[in-house]
Amino acid sequence: MPARILFYICLVWMVSFACTPRSTNSKPFTNQPVSHTLLDSPMPNKSFMEKTEAEWKKILTPEQYEVTRKKGTERAFTGQFWNHKEKGNYKCVCCGSELFKSKTKYDSGCGWPSFYAPADDKIIREATDNTYGMVRVEVMCDNCGAHLGHVFEDGPSEHGGLRYCINSASLTFEKDSTGK
Ligand code: FE
Repeated sequence: MPARILFYICLVWMVSFACTPRSTNSKPFTNQPVSHTLLDSPMPNKSFMEKTEAEWKKILTPEQYEVTRKKGTERAFTGQFWNHKEKGNYKCVCCGSELFKSKTKYDSGCGWPSFYAPADDKIIREATDNTYGMVRVEVMCDNCGAHLGHVFEDGPSEHGGLRYCINSASLTFEKDSTGK
C-alpha cells in the first residue's frame, strides 16, 4: 500500500478518536452536529492580538506553535496537564490570559485536560470547525486567537453538560496556594 494512502488512513483513524471520552459518567460521544448555545451569540468582532508568525515562533516551542497557531492537536495522554490535579489557574501559553480554573477541571478519560466551564465566557471565542468530516466547535483564546481545542456536549450534566477538551500545549499553569 502506498505510504501516502497509509498515512491518510492513520490520520483519519487518529482524528476519529480525538477527544473521545471514556468515562462512563459522561454522555456517549455521538459526533453529531453541535447546538452549543454560545455559538448562537457570537462575541463582539474584536480583533485578535497581533503578532507575526516569526514573533510567535520566537516565544513558543515548536509544539506550542503547531497547536496554538496552526490548530494542531497533541496526542492523547501525552500532554503536561491531562492528569494534572494541582489547584490553580490555567493560562494561555501565548498571551497569559486566564482561561480555566482547576475547580472546573475533571477527569473525562479522554487524555486531554477537560474542563466543564471557562474561567470567563468572554475569554473564549468559538467557531464552527468542519474539518476531518466532523462538525465540531473550536475554542480559541479571545485575546490572541490561540487554538485551544474544542467544546463538546458530553460533559458532566450537573455542571451544564459541556466538556472543554483542551490541549496542554496551549496552557501554562499558575499554582494557587489559596486552593481555588
Ligand atoms: Fe491568548
